[in-house]
Amino acid sequence: MSKPRIATTSLCGCFGCHMSLLDLDERILQLAELVEFDKSPINDIKEFTRRCAVGLIEGGCANQENVAVLRNFRRHCDVLVSVGDCATMGGIPALRNMIPLEECLREAYLDGPSVINPSRIIPNDPEIPLLLDKVYPAHEVVKIDYHLPGCPPSADTLWKALSALLAGSAVELPYELIKYD
Ligand code: SF4
Repeated sequence: MSKPRIATTSLCGCFGCHMSLLDLDERILQLAELVEFDKSPINDIKEFTRRCAVGLIEGGCANQENVAVLRNFRRHCDVLVSVGDCATMGGIPALRNMIPLEECLREAYLDGPSVINPSRIIPNDPEIPLLLDKVYPAHEVVKIDYHLPGCPPSADTLWKALSALLAGSAVELPYELIKYD
């Protein structure tokens, strides 16, 4: 019988949530027994090879490429999980939401105290994905089935959630795994 497939991606995130997945330590061998990894930075598979049972989304949407990747995950995954605060609410990148985009670009490329840019050109190569006006959490772009809070969610939280999803059970996280004081 073929194993269920998992795909993962990092949108506007720092890869810390993926590091948390690697923090499963020896349980990652157990996970490898239970599932096949499909498109993911973990195995460097760039495109979906077939439909996946679970998609793990790290990061929110800051540019048009993030939106395209997220929509592609929604199309290919039965269950989509927002992993970490960036995916669930925008996280640190969303701090720019309080500042108009033009002002952010001016500060980053023209007027910031450490900027050296004699050409006074803000990068505009067509290859660079267009920035969105704001950073959007994943659920504001596609339907998300589960949210795992934390920056990053602990390996134990990921393990508990993945074990439940793979067993076809409801994800029930004990208070100890989702409190941060
Ligand atoms: S939630 Fe935290 S660890 Fe995860 S991508 Fe965002 S900043 Fe990084």
